[in-house]
Amino acid sequence: MRIYLDNASTTPVHPEVLDVMLQVLKDDFGNPSSIHQHGRKSRSIIEQARKIVAKTINASIGEVFFTSSATEANNMVLKNAIKDLGIQRIISSPTEHHCVLHSLDSISSEGKCEVVILKVDQYGHIDYDQLNVLLSDKKLKTLVSIMHGNNEIGTMADISRIGNLCKENGTLFHCDTVQTMGKYPIDVQAAHIHFLSGSAHKFHGPKGVGFVFINNDNMLTPYIHGGAQERNMRAGTENVAGISGLAKALEIAVSNMLINHQKINELRTLFKTLLADQINGVYYNGDQDERFMSHVLSVSFPPGPKADMLVMNLDIAGISASSGSACSAGIEEDSHVMVAIGHPSDRKTIRFSFSPLNTEEEIRYTVEKLKEML
Ligand code: PLP
Repeated sequence: MRIYLDNASTTPVHPEVLDVMLQVLKDDFGNPSSIHQHGRKSRSIIEQARKIVAKTINASIGEVFFTSSATEANNMVLKNAIKDLGIQRIISSPTEHHCVLHSLDSISSEGKCEVVILKVDQYGHIDYDQLNVLLSDKKLKTLVSIMHGNNEIGTMADISRIGNLCKENGTLFHCDTVQTMGKYPIDVQAAHIHFLSGSAHKFHGPKGVGFVFINNDNMLTPYIHGGAQERNMRAGTENVAGISGLAKALEIAVSNMLINHQKINELRTLFKTLLADQINGVYYNGDQDERFMSHVLSVSFPPGPKADMLVMNLDIAGISASSGSACSAGIEEDSHVMVAIGHPSDRKTIRFSFSPLNTEEEIRYTVEKLKEML
């Protein structure tokens, strides 16, 4: 038996998504830029996909562009907002994904823009009062970049509140919605979001394809130069099969959102109940009460040599989960998110992340194995 509990990292491709993609790869191979029938067929697949994405986030079709990943989408927004929109200050948080934080490092090392990192509390929530105070200082044209759901600890930001604060202060808002897309409703107009990123492989689509939403009134120029693909916004022959898979996966995720949510919540609750019953001294990282994504459960285990070996021993037992640390120069260190929330560095963190494909038996088996290992 092999159990996959690393769905925040990536998800298996849905069988219907695979069917759609195989059909495109086999039959619809035309270059979407060609004007003959083969090309027109591929073009219409892309445009149909764009409609699905736009409808999902309540954007207009002209505001959605396909990219190679959410990493590309986030780089594009942050770097080009400075160049094209005259952004002079970016306000972000210490728990963003590395594709945001490392982009900000690069931006600030070039001296192009001031970067302000907000404080977060022990649950990973940003300090909204600090954001409010910062935004009331309007000397510099500002972009706020805050993720919707944190990939390591599951804490969710109140994007309506952030969007309203941005609106009141005439500030632009970029939101990394990679972990929430297809799992939670997202409405760019209601939440006053100007830029947003998504990635197919987090919602049972293929890897290597994502999208960016760019609000019409704040258009950027291309990040990648070349041909006129994506209406001149993103050069390079489109990943037609990937884009078709992204749209199909999103459609399936959105139409099953409630039922998936319920199933994942049940698995999470069972996992927590069993852990509390069987293993002493565990606690959970991130918000557990109000604003959290059900599919991410970050568990902090008491210190000790057995805990240090947990991820490896789980793997040997046939269970794939992820550790809350990063290996740097051969030394395991707490991840930037764990450091930001003040997680004690002697405790071991494991992120278990669920999908609707997981079962109760898998959860029971995993907790049983954890008990044996500890
Ligand atoms: N942002 C978040 C929150 C993520 O979890 C990830 C992937 O782990 C990314 C961005 C990057 O997405 P991609 O794999 O499409 O580059």
